[in-house]
Amino acid sequence: MKVRSVAIDGPSGAGKSTISKTVAGRLGFIYVDTGALYRVIGLRFLETGALGLDTLKLSLAFAEGEQRMYDGGRDVTEDIRKHEVSKAASDCSALPEVRAFLLGLQREMAMKSDVIMDGRDIGTVVLPDAGLKIFLTARPEDRARRRFDQLQQAGKVPPPYEQILADIKTRDHNDSSRKEAPLRQAPDAVLLDTTGNTFEQSASLVEGLIRERYGL
Ligand code: C5P
Repeated sequence: MKVRSVAIDGPSGAGKSTISKTVAGRLGFIYVDTGALYRVIGLRFLETGALGLDTLKLSLAFAEGEQRMYDGGRDVTEDIRKHEVSKAASDCSALPEVRAFLLGLQREMAMKSDVIMDGRDIGTVVLPDAGLKIFLTARPEDRARRRFDQLQQAGKVPPPYEQILADIKTRDHNDSSRKEAPLRQAPDAVLLDTTGNTFEQSASLVEGLIRERYGL
């Protein structure tokens, strides 16, 4: 049976991962968060000062709907979410050798089962033939506010809102101006601006697009 694939791209904090995870759960698709792959490399780089791609043993496992990430035997799922890893991941992701290293891995994952894959270049580079492509975005202020609220709700002390906003703008700039696979809406992607939406409104819109595309 031919598998179904949905590519969801967009800038940081647009809600890609929470929406994709929820909708994938509702439809019985696997959800693959490709940012996590770049984050493992960013973590490596922060800790060792080198990419070490030749010794990187990247693997992932799905446990209770959660994507857990491993570098060899080490579970790095929590460590890759640290604030400083975001910037390191973004920096490393601009390197052609890093992108080439992860390309095959991502394509392999999309061949195995129905998948919603989110990232920056899924519709443009990784899965150019995806059955449905969505470009999910929102105003930077909205994205920064959501990230701030999410951290607070998770019981963490968030950095000041202004700092989160500045970081988001820097990452937007890095991700869209890099030479290799920049963040860009694929010409055949559906644009979805979630500014002002509740989570459920955005999730329903995405779910509706997938159901319509695949007659589910
Ligand atoms: O999505 P997330 O913020 O976790 O991704 C971390 C970084 O990885 C992003 O800022 C981006 O630079 C990079 N990335 C990428 N291509 C992808 C997914 C993430 O360049 N497909």
